Amino acid sequence: MMHASTHAGISLALHGGAGRILRERTQAARDAELRATIERLLGDGLTRLEAGATALDVVQALVAALEDDPQFNAGRGSALTSEAVVEMDAALMDGASRAAGAVACVRGVRNPIALARAVLEDGQHVLLVGAGAERFAREQGVAFAEPSWFVTEERRAELESARSGGRVSLDRDEPGAFGTVGAVARDSSGHLAAATSTGGMTNQRPGRVGDSPLIGAGTWADDATCAVSATGHGEAFMRAAFAHEVDAALRLGAFSLRAACDHALARVAALGGAGGCIALSASGELVAAFTTPGMVRGSVRSGAAPIVALYGDEA
Ligand code: ASP
Repeated sequence: MMHASTHAGISLALHGGAGRILRERTQAARDAELRATIERLLGDGLTRLEAGATALDVVQALVAALEDDPQFNAGRGSALTSEAVVEMDAALMDGASRAAGAVACVRGVRNPIALARAVLEDGQHVLLVGAGAERFAREQGVAFAEPSWFVTEERRAELESARSGGRVSLDRDEPGAFGTVGAVARDSSGHLAAATSTGGMTNQRPGRVGDSPLIGAGTWADDATCAVSATGHGEAFMRAAFAHEVDAALRLGAFSLRAACDHALARVAALGGAGGCIALSASGELVAAFTTPGMVRGSVRSGAAPIVALYGDEA
């Protein structure tokens, strides 16, 4: 039997996107299934961290599982571009070394987060995009899937509604269609990591890249301050240097983690953007913050029960 003290500070959180997550849209059966999925993933991640896995390995594994789940806007089930194609972005960062790997605008890569990890391990570059990233994936033996594997009926319907409204949309009008995914973790050595993966926004222009794969915008980890994974209107998160703003508020401004996230989200809101983030401090404190009606989210720490929430009025 393990002693709680061995696992002091082990914690992890994940998100499945911010947006108009409302009870009347989610549907009861989907709601329960979604909560069960998140709780299971949190349990798997915690077990791995308690067995000594690194934060980086665990955030990658959690995001890969969410990519494989067609409910989420990442990997299979990604949002469709205006040309009805799936183009995906992903990034991860190791707080111990601030090593980072990211890919943007990739097609056909089954798990973009695995490709981001290969970029990190290769170490020469931080961000690879498009055809060059796909070529690197083949060289590295990263798995591909047929284009049709990524496309779900829910996303086709969303594209139709976004097209008819002339919108580029973060919001998911279909029940069971949720958002971008991300994870943050603190391991038994006190190291932090963050990972984020997305199909972007529905009806976005082909070639558009959001905040998720940009280090310091949608994804960030530094053992000295925090790990952050964001979701929301990517353009505003980029222009606010969102994740780096959370880091800077902690490092230079002596903010609490909650105050740092709220401050950075206020800067996104001032640019007309909405969304949220999960964040984890150097000491293992966890925060989920958002300015949208809801955000799919969950967290767990050693010795405590997991917390899963979807709507804005839940703790
Ligand atoms: N932030 C993502 C993007 O702009 C979208 C999302 O979070 O749902 O690509």
